[in-house]
Amino acid sequence: MKYILLVGDGMGDYPVDELGGRTPLQAARIPAMRRIAARGTLHNVRTVPAGLPPGSDVCNMGLLGYNAAEQYTGRAPIEAAGARIPLSSDDVAFRCNLVTVRDGRMIDYSAGHISSEEGDQIIRDVARTLGGESLRFYPGIGYRHLLLWRDGPADMTTQPPHDIAEQDIAPHLPSGEREEEVRELMDRSKAILEKHPVNEARRAAGREPATQLWLWGQGRALRLQDFHALYGLTGGVVTAVDLVRGLGLLAGLTVPDIEGVTGFIDTNYDGKVDAAREIIRTSDFAYVHVEAPDECGHMGDAKLKTQAIEDFDKRIVAPLWDHMETCGEPYRLILAMDHRTPVALRGHTKDPVPLVILDGPVGTVTEEAPFDETVLDDLPEEWSYELIRQSLR
Ligand SMILES: [Zn+2]
Repeated sequence: MKYILLVGDGMGDYPVDELGGRTPLQAARIPAMRRIAARGTLHNVRTVPAGLPPGSDVCNMGLLGYNAAEQYTGRAPIEAAGARIPLSSDDVAFRCNLVTVRDGRMIDYSAGHISSEEGDQIIRDVARTLGGESLRFYPGIGYRHLLLWRDGPADMTTQPPHDIAEQDIAPHLPSGEREEEVRELMDRSKAILEKHPVNEARRAAGREPATQLWLWGQGRALRLQDFHALYGLTGGVVTAVDLVRGLGLLAGLTVPDIEGVTGFIDTNYDGKVDAAREIIRTSDFAYVHVEAPDECGHMGDAKLKTQAIEDFDKRIVAPLWDHMETCGEPYRLILAMDHRTPVALRGHTKDPVPLVILDGPVGTVTEEAPFDETVLDDLPEEWSYELIRQSLR
C-alpha cells in the first residue's frame, strides 16, 4: 500500500462577493478534486488545537499525524530545523524579523520586503554588535532571520508582526518573566539599523528602511517521534517552505531540494510532481505541500486564490492521482488543507476544513461531488492528527 497526502495550504475560505457569493474552492474549476470527493470519504476536520495559533506549523503537524497540543514548542525551532540549523537542549530559537516601525506603529512586518542580500548584510552587522556565544544570529531569506539564544527566555508572550499591521506596538511588545532582556535586544538593534548603509540606500530609493529587529515565535527544540517508528512507513515531503521542510526533517522523512520552487503561483509544479513520484517509487508515503493558495489569501486577492486552487488541481492533484492509479499498487490518497486563509481577513482562522480519503485504484471516474466548505455541514468534527493516525495504519 502506498500513501499520498496532498495539501493545498490555506485553500479554505468564506463566501466572497467578488466571486458571486461563492468561496474560491466553489468558484474554482477543480475536476480532479471533485472526482476524488465523489469517490472518496469526506471528513470535517479541526486542525487547530485549543490554545494554539492557527499557523501552518501547527496545522501541518496535525496533517502529518502529530498532536501539536502535546508537542508544539513554537514556530522558530521548526524554521531552524528547516534551515538545517541544529538546536541544543539549552537553546531557545526566536524568529527575528526585520521590520519598519515608525512613530511607535508597525508599518511593515517585512521592512518593505527587504531582499535577502540586504537582510544578510544587516543581520551580520547586528551579530557583530549584539551577538556572542550565547546569542547567535542566522541570516535567512528576505526579512526572515533566526536567533538562537542559549538559556534564553522561552516562556514569553510574543506577537507575530504581520498580525499587528498599522497598530501601536507598545501593547504587543514581548511580555513575560524576562521581557526586559528581549525588549532591550530589540531596542539596541534600532541604533545599529538607524544609520546602516543598507537603510540609507533604501531611503534614497524611496523604500521602507528596516528600523529594528522584532523577536517572536520563540521555543525550545521540537522533538518529533520518528515517522517510520510511528507508522512503519518510509517517506518524504515535497515543499517550498522552511516550516514544512522543518517538520519533515524533524519527523525523519526525506525532503528533497527542488529547483525553482517559490511558495507562490509561479512555483515549479512539474518539479514537485517529479519529486513526489520519486518518493512514491522508492518509499511508502509522500506528503506534497503547495503554498500558493495561502499566499493569495494573505494578499486578499480572491481571483488569484481561485487560480492558485485551479493550478493545484490541474498541476499537482490530477497528475499525481493519475500516477497512483497507474503505479500498479493499491494506494490511499488523502486530499487536505491545513487551515482557511480567508481573503477578506488576509489571515488564518481556526474554522474546520474538508478532507477526503480515497482508496484506489478506482479506474475512470467521471462523476463529481463538491469539495468545499459546504460539505462540512452534515459531518461530525474530527481532529486532524487522530484521523491521519488512523488512516496511515
Ligand atoms: Zn498554512
